[in-house]
Amino acid sequence: MNAKKMKFKKVENYIAGKFNYSGNKVIDVISPLNGRPVSSVGLSSASDVDKAVVAAQKAFVSWSALSIKERAKKLYPYKVLLENHMEDLAKQIREENGKTIEEARGEVGKSIDMVRYACSLPHIVRGKFIREEDGTEYRVERRPLGVVASIIPFNFPFLLPHYSFVNAITLGNCFILKPSKQVPMSPANIALLLKEAGIPDGVFNIVNGDKEVVDALCDHPQIEAVSFIGSSKVARYVYRRATSAYKRCLALGGSKNHIIVMPDAQPKYAAENISKSMCECAGQRCLAPSVLIAVGNCKKVIELVKVNAAKFIPGKNLGPVISSDAKNRIVKFIGDAEKAGAKIILDGRKGMDRIEGNYIGPTIIDKVLPVMEIAKEEVFGPVLSIIHVDDVESAIKIVNGSSYGNASSVFTQNSFIAGQVLENVDTAMTGVNICIPSQNSLYSFGGSKQSKFGACDITGESSIELWTRLKKTYINFQKD
Ligand code: NAD
Repeated sequence: MNAKKMKFKKVENYIAGKFNYSGNKVIDVISPLNGRPVSSVGLSSASDVDKAVVAAQKAFVSWSALSIKERAKKLYPYKVLLENHMEDLAKQIREENGKTIEEARGEVGKSIDMVRYACSLPHIVRGKFIREEDGTEYRVERRPLGVVASIIPFNFPFLLPHYSFVNAITLGNCFILKPSKQVPMSPANIALLLKEAGIPDGVFNIVNGDKEVVDALCDHPQIEAVSFIGSSKVARYVYRRATSAYKRCLALGGSKNHIIVMPDAQPKYAAENISKSMCECAGQRCLAPSVLIAVGNCKKVIELVKVNAAKFIPGKNLGPVISSDAKNRIVKFIGDAEKAGAKIILDGRKGMDRIEGNYIGPTIIDKVLPVMEIAKEEVFGPVLSIIHVDDVESAIKIVNGSSYGNASSVFTQNSFIAGQVLENVDTAMTGVNICIPSQNSLYSFGGSKQSKFGACDITGESSIELWTRLKKTYINFQKD
């Protein structure tokens, strides 16, 4: 492919404040909107990771010597740049990821929220101090780890780096990002704006690539911690590899989120919330509802979910999925469920071959059984399975039978039932009358079971534990 014909220039690594490409293998960045290449990216090697580590180590000396207040202050201009460039950033997110422009703007908006939280860290990260009776002073404070790295997936190319880097660098670390090779342009925009904002060279670096880079980040003796977001299979692998190299690791994996609908759920409200959450970002969200568990008679809610979901029109207010492979995988899931006896009540496969891009319409599959593949595996598309049960205990059992533990919700007007679900479901994030039970940078984000390997969460206060170590000091100023 001739790079000159591409809409955007080739994406390069960002190391020590400079964009430079090294490595021989260059791949195209394909837009899911039309299947055409819009840019290209080089796949780096372990030696590029070495270079990034050297740059980050060098920057760490002066960056970690700044006070946390000074570091937070250096992010203020970056936040302003994000606000000023929201439209351009959103357009590029859409080009490479396919999501609608409103969804892409939302991604930038949430990133700004993450920066705002990082700027508040000086108020949160306070040390502890106590003086003993004999005059000994005991002090505990948080210190940065050194060089840390994050590996991210394709679905939020701009937001997910902000889940980790803003807190990690504000806490004094220097950072290496490994973006998804499917969507490397948005992470490069982060580097451009950090540079413009005056963040010192080497504090934030990007190494593009795939498995070789991931392995090198996990193995590198000078990288102190690795965070990962992606599928459970790779999360497991990264967690095992990084921890066997004796480093901290937090690896967030895939999900299978259940929505329990009780017969007393408010039909209009529940249906709007569920259909929107299943269709936004074409269902490619780790919090998207995937299985609706209808307890007793929920006919009205199901009918309205179908009506509302049908209003998401591919190419208008519903974006494509990331690749033709992803589309084929989703289509196969639907076909297999049908063969296994489930009933397709809204078929997103219809007419999709006639439009350009990796589109698949909203799909609702009724009469799914818990043993079916579609009920157990992550689909990651705008597809909702419906399982029918007689009571809330059976619904909770299905939620807890999943190997994933990211999120679940219950729609009911009965506070006793809501309490029963909250108390008994084994998911790390749970909502009552809300499908996406995590909205805010202030709170910790992270799942359980196969959805998260390692301690801590990736955002909020829990991330402070991830990105720092405790320094304990005992001082005795007593005289003879
Ligand atoms: P993925 O696991 O394929 O890729 C994630 C990252 O790992 C990418 O940077 C990729 O280059 C790298 N990678 C892929 N295969 C690898 C291998 N064999 N060895 C080493 N590295 C490898 O995930 P994806 O398809 O990019 O993203 C979708 C997945 O991410 C879904 O499972 C979704 O649930 C998950 N996700 C989870 C969360 C969460 O918070 N739990 C958030 C967003 C996305």
